[in-house]
Amino acid sequence: MGTRCSSDSPAPDPGGNCKNTSGLTFRVTGTSRKSRARTGILSTAHGTIRTPVFMPVGTLGTVKGITPEELRNMGVQILLGNTYHLYLRPGINVIGRFGGLHEFMNWDGPILTDSGGFQVFSLAQMSKITEEGYAFASHIDGSRHLLTPEDTVDIQSCIDSDIMMCLDQCIAYPSDHDSALKALELTTQWAERCIKRKSILNIEKNALFAIIQGGMYPDLRKRSAEELIQLDFPGYAIGGLSVGEPKDLMYEIGESTLALLPDKKPRYVMGVGTPADIVELVESGADMFDCVLPTRNARNGQLFVNSGTINISNARFKTDPRPVDEKCACYTCTNYSRAYLHHLYRNRELLAYRLNTLHNLDYYTRLMEKMRNAIEKDEFPAFKRDFYSKRQPPGKNGQ
Ligand SMILES: [Zn+2]
Repeated sequence: MGTRCSSDSPAPDPGGNCKNTSGLTFRVTGTSRKSRARTGILSTAHGTIRTPVFMPVGTLGTVKGITPEELRNMGVQILLGNTYHLYLRPGINVIGRFGGLHEFMNWDGPILTDSGGFQVFSLAQMSKITEEGYAFASHIDGSRHLLTPEDTVDIQSCIDSDIMMCLDQCIAYPSDHDSALKALELTTQWAERCIKRKSILNIEKNALFAIIQGGMYPDLRKRSAEELIQLDFPGYAIGGLSVGEPKDLMYEIGESTLALLPDKKPRYVMGVGTPADIVELVESGADMFDCVLPTRNARNGQLFVNSGTINISNARFKTDPRPVDEKCACYTCTNYSRAYLHHLYRNRELLAYRLNTLHNLDYYTRLMEKMRNAIEKDEFPAFKRDFYSKRQPPGKNGQ
């Protein structure tokens, strides 16, 4: 795989001392006495982040339809980029010419990139996994590629990601114990190779997080966590959740796995989730989240409100003069009625996607802010009661 980015590539450090050093620091600033919820400050090469934090997904170096300035004004602190997509388009040599994704997309805040493994697993055609890495055919043009753990570190360092993720082996749900065990063993081997590669590249500014696998088996989650904690990463993610399992099982595995992770390191639950999922997992001690829900669902007309969700295409909004949410101070709710948003969406006007996305991202950003405030005041249980008391069962109120 041609993964080296132009002449800006860092000079390899031939020293054999493989340390996963990083300039990233994390400090817990508040804890909840009645739950595991906590607040913290995560410092990266491109700025500090207050946790718990939600990271909007900017797959191709853009949060669809929204400018970095709008994200910044809304209070978004960190974006997620997808390594698989950026590697295929525009390609690492293009991003490398700009010295990284920050400059290329005009976002000077922190960026986290996934390793590409999940996208290869879910999008690529003819993907084959071996000890070496993932062999796959691009979902765009069918071209053949090999993605190794070393490649993912090279690509993410060219992107100049503030937080890089190790290549991991994702498994489907359900998976038997033996397949989950094999995937976690390979994930640990690959994590070691990622550390080695990062050490050779001598890149301290790009922190590297590990991903705990183990499917829905508590004994395997424990083993995966123990093996990766041994390798002393500056942060740990939980992968393989929200892949089709029942909610109760997701919360159970999320909670028990979060409890295994070091208190002093940030804990990231990947690909999760709905507002309720996030509230539950913050209560269990998670610090970081990413999910396509607020952005993707906005483009499908679904808007998040305190009572749950509304679908703006519903005919009952045709003449409704109220904003999406009377208490929301976002740009959309300050300036536009439900009737206008309904009209835009029914006509597939481009502005519909923008205004819906602005509201949904604002909802998620405010939700995280409210949780941080509640934890700081040690009032998280009251926050959670209030959150659920406002919600209505699905089916009511046009949801
Ligand atoms: Zn709003």
